[in-house]
Amino acid sequence: MSAIGDILKDARKVVVKIGSNVLSDENGFVDRDNVKDIVDQVMELVEDGKQVVIVSSGAGACGMATIHKWARRKDINYRQALCAIGQVELMMEYKEGFGKYGVHVGQILLTNEDFSDADRTLRIRNTIYTLVDEGVIPIINENDSVAVDEIKIGDNDALSALVVTLWDADALVFLSNIEGIYDKDPGANEDAKMIEEIYDIDKLLDTIEIKGTSSFGTGGIATKIEAARRVNEYSIPAILLHGKKKNILIDALNGEAKGTIFYGKEVAFK
Ligand code: GLU
Repeated sequence: MSAIGDILKDARKVVVKIGSNVLSDENGFVDRDNVKDIVDQVMELVEDGKQVVIVSSGAGACGMATIHKWARRKDINYRQALCAIGQVELMMEYKEGFGKYGVHVGQILLTNEDFSDADRTLRIRNTIYTLVDEGVIPIINENDSVAVDEIKIGDNDALSALVVTLWDADALVFLSNIEGIYDKDPGANEDAKMIEEIYDIDKLLDTIEIKGTSSFGTGGIATKIEAARRVNEYSIPAILLHGKKKNILIDALNGEAKGTIFYGKEVAFK
């Protein structure tokens, strides 16, 4: 069994963060097969006795795919309007996918303000617990149509870390369009090696160069590393996996997938 498999076998409560690039094809349209594949896998985790909360990006990408003529509009009102449209498209995919199993989905849209007001935070927490306890899959995204810079969480990697601590999850899984963290850019260096276990993020940042954001999302490697740091502070591990690989979550559970684990120090030296 691999370390990733051990973590996922032990985890009862898992937050799965799904990036825009995982949900979109190369033209920006919803990658229906991949959404279906991920839904099927989440249901396998649930049938295995786990509780799953999804943090899903894709409102912006789905909006652009729906109303192409707005895609080049950079004005904030158009971008927020696109997210309002795209969020519906995105939820339709999840509703259809989980609906085939007779499972409901519940949408929660959050901004930073929700996490800075104790009363609101408590209500969100209660809603997540209630949904999960009742067998509903919560699907969480930033409330992109109302979030302006001042109240923006900014990227769903950070949002997923907030959700992990709020819900007291046992593990965070990033499904991204990269396989893991490499010591060099794997696109430019044939000898690049994946770093499978990270214990010290500061040390990592001293040794590798992080650049680039993803094409459809707002995050990138840097935001994942910072989100991992956040959950690691609570001794919760974060795992980075390639979400475009078929059956990746189940392969990871069975110890048959490669990726990068960020350990909380206490977890690592337990
Ligand atoms: N909330 C954004 C969306 O749904 C994505 C943010 C991100 O990519 O991290 O389009």
